[in-house]
Amino acid sequence: MTRKVDDLYECEECRLLYRDVSWAQKCEEWCKKYKSCNLEITAHAVNKTDLIL
Ligand SMILES: [Zn+2]
Repeated sequence: MTRKVDDLYECEECRLLYRDVSWAQKCEEWCKKYKSCNLEITAHAVNKTDLIL
């Protein structure tokens, strides 16, 4: 289950944040299945430095 954090969605496996729930779900499915990150998916994650701005 992805977790909603403010207006973002967190992959509970790798803790990356996404603005779009569909990317968070894709990330989590990938993380659970392969126990690694897919760069094509994580490229859509919210950069933590963006959150400070
Ligand atoms: Zn993930």
